[in-house]
Order: sequence, then structure tokens, then C-alpha cells
Amino acid sequence: MKESSFDITILGGGILGVSLAYHLRKSNLRILLIEKDQNLGLHASGKNAGMIRQLYRSEQLTEWAKNSINYWPKEIKSNFFTQGSSLIIGRNIPNHNQELFKETNIKISGRSIKALYTKTDGLLDSSPYLNYLATEAKKNKQLEIMTNTSVSSISRPSLTTKELEMTINGQYKITTSLLVNCTGAWLDKTLEQTTDIYKIRKIRFSKAYARYLFRSKGWGNSNSINSNSEEIRFNDTSFYWDEENNWYCRDWGEGEKLISKCEELEADPDDYIPNLNAQLRLSETFCKLYPEFSKNITLENGWHCFRTYTKDKLPIFGFDKDEPRLFWLGCFGGFGMSTSYSATYDAAQLLTKKSNNKFSEFSPDRLIQKSIS
Ligand SMILES: Cc1cc2nc3c(=O)[nH]c(=O)nc-3n(C[C@H](O)[C@H](O)[C@H](O)COP(=O)(O)OP(=O)(O)OC[C@H]3O[C@@H](n4cnc5c(N)ncnc54)[C@H](O)[C@@H]3O)c2cc1C
Repeated sequence: MKESSFDITILGGGILGVSLAYHLRKSNLRILLIEKDQNLGLHASGKNAGMIRQLYRSEQLTEWAKNSINYWPKEIKSNFFTQGSSLIIGRNIPNHNQELFKETNIKISGRSIKALYTKTDGLLDSSPYLNYLATEAKKNKQLEIMTNTSVSSISRPSLTTKELEMTINGQYKITTSLLVNCTGAWLDKTLEQTTDIYKIRKIRFSKAYARYLFRSKGWGNSNSINSNSEEIRFNDTSFYWDEENNWYCRDWGEGEKLISKCEELEADPDDYIPNLNAQLRLSETFCKLYPEFSKNITLENGWHCFRTYTKDKLPIFGFDKDEPRLFWLGCFGGFGMSTSYSATYDAAQLLTKKSNNKFSEFSPDRLIQKSIS
């Protein structure tokens, strides 16, 4: 059996794991990134809607999203991000970062509706962005990436031992000083299957929810669409989110949009049968909301992926109370693409002891009280 030793092992090759490896690339630490599937970014991080949004109830999430946009290097901004503003219905200006948001009125079906306009939001090409971060991270000769790799066990041989011992692919033994759990919709399952933590705590932190996205045509290219008395300014901005009626759309190239009915379909990511009625439900909603306009719209092929949430819908960021060598980084729900660049920068600072900012509102400890049964 081969043996290797690492300073930090990252479990999960989605945007959180890859972006963390990117920020650690100059740390001079031995880093291992393990992904269970054949490639990086095959799940939520490669299949999401890529809307970069800064409007959150949590001030820290807004800060992370704002800082991600501001601190992306030039290559990222020019190659993978298109600034284009957003319109969100059903929200008020939050009591933080107010300079980012502006109240405006839009006309839908003759009604004037209040919306929030954010000039500096935009759209991200999620997969190319993740691949860019991975390519940059790989320039670190101290980084090893293992795909198609599963972890069979994780243990700490004794309370005084400094490192965790892991067996991967039932074959290789590795030791690691720190383990970061970035396994997205598998966040709890990953450790449930490999450690004793759950036998002691009997608590799961997260739940996974499937969400569907569909390509759609027939939106036209004008800045506003007038159909009978409807003036719907979907095309003024790069994305339009109606939180009152729970749907959104974003630009998806030549006259197309990506559209979603914001459903919360609880799911086991290993045992999920795609819901064939998802397209029908979206069509029904749209026809009801915009009977005239929806005649032109067609829904093309769609897909689903999993969003992962804690009970309070805030992320998990921080060291485990019972296992100080374990760091949790997950449950970035529907905001991981917007916030991960800056959130993982802060995680890298904490893991390398360059900062002591623990972001306690997101600590795993809070969930031990508010457990999900
Ligand atoms: C439909 C949809 C639309 C979205 N739209 C947006 C949006 O517009 N804007 C936005 O900001 N966010 C959006 N999101 C949210 C965003 O996609 C997620 O927050 C983000 O991708 C989560 O990243 P992650 O790295 O935690 O998870 P993932 O991308 O799921 O990555 C986790 C990785 O861990 C791997 N893994 C699991 N178990 C193991 C194991 N035991 N060992 C090794 N590897 C393992 C998985 O294979 C996977 O590759 C959307 C999400 C969905 C579902």
C-alpha cells in the first residue's frame, strides 16, 4: 500500500474546492484535491445559471459577492464575466451595502411593480471559469489532483495524533494535517460513510434540492417587449428574477434565455429520478403570468443539478467542533458562483493562519443547536 502525506486535503472538485486550491497555490504547502467523479466541476458548479448577484439578506454574502467581482484578476473579468446588471422583484433594499442597489418601477401587465436594479451584477461562464482556476492552481507543483477517487475511511488514530489518516480507493493510505470538506450535495454523506463523527452527533447539517434550468427561445432582441398591454423589460438586464412568482431568466446567447421555475425539490443526489413534469410546471406558470407574451416562448432542452442548504440557508464555513482538523466549506445554496472566489480566499487565509477571521455566523457549531433531523 502506497503512503503519502499532505498539509491540506480538499475533498470535492466543484467551485469551492477548486477555488480554494487556486488561492492556496502560492502557499508552499502540499495540497491534495480529491474528486469522486471523472472530471472537476461536473455537478452544480458546471451546470448552474451563472448569475452573479450581490443582493443578499446576509451582509457577509453581499461582501463576498462584491469582493469576488472586484478582486477577480483581469483574465477572469475579461474572459468569463459579462457585467450587465440585474432586476429583482419582490425584495427591498437591504440595510447594508445600499450603494449597490437602486429601486425602480417596471410595468408588467399594466401594473407598475417595484424592482431592485443592481448595475454591477452580471453573468459568468461557469465551466470555463472553473477550468481556468484549476489550470492556474495546477501550476503549483505541490498540488496533486486525483479524480475518479473515493475515500473509504477517515480516522484520527489517537487523540494526541496530529494528522488524520485516510484510505482512498480502498488502496492508498494518506495522512493529512487538515481536511476540507467541499463535497456540495454530498457534504454530510461523505463523512457519514467514512468517519465516526455522525455516530456521536447524530446530526446532519445539510439538505440537497434539485432545480431545473431550461433553454428557451422567442424572447426577441428589443430592449423591451410589448405585447398588448404588457411591457416586460426582461431584455434590459442580463438577468431578471421574480421572487414573487418564483422564476428567473438570464441571457443565454443569440435571442435565447435560460429560464427556471425556482422549485425546492428535496433530493438524494445518489438516488434521484429526474422529474419529467418540471418543464410542464414551468410552462403552466409562465402561461398564467404572461398569457399573451408566452405564446412566442418555447422551452428547449433542460437539465437539473443540486443546490445544498443548511436549515438557516447560510453557508457552513469553519472548523468542526469535535474534529479540529476538519474544515467545513459548503452549503452555498444558489449563491456559490457569486461568492466563492472571495469566500475561498478567506478560507485559505484562515487555513494558513494568515487571518483569524472565523466568520462565526457561518460556523458549523451553530448547526449543532439548529440540527436538521
Ligand atoms: C440550478 C442551479 C442554478 C444555480 N445558479 C446559480 C447562479 O446563478 N449564481 C450563483 O452564484 N450560484 C448558482 N447556483 C449555486 C452554485 O452552483 C453552487 O452554490 C456551487 O456550484 C456549489 O459549489 P460546490 O463546490 O459546493 O458543489 P459542487 O459543484 O456540487 O461540487 C462538489 C463536488 O464534490 C464531489 N464529491 C462529492 N462527494 C465526494 C467525495 N466523497 N469525495 C470526493 N469528491 C466528492 C462532487 O462530485 C462534486 O464535484 C446554482 C445552483 C443550481 C443547482
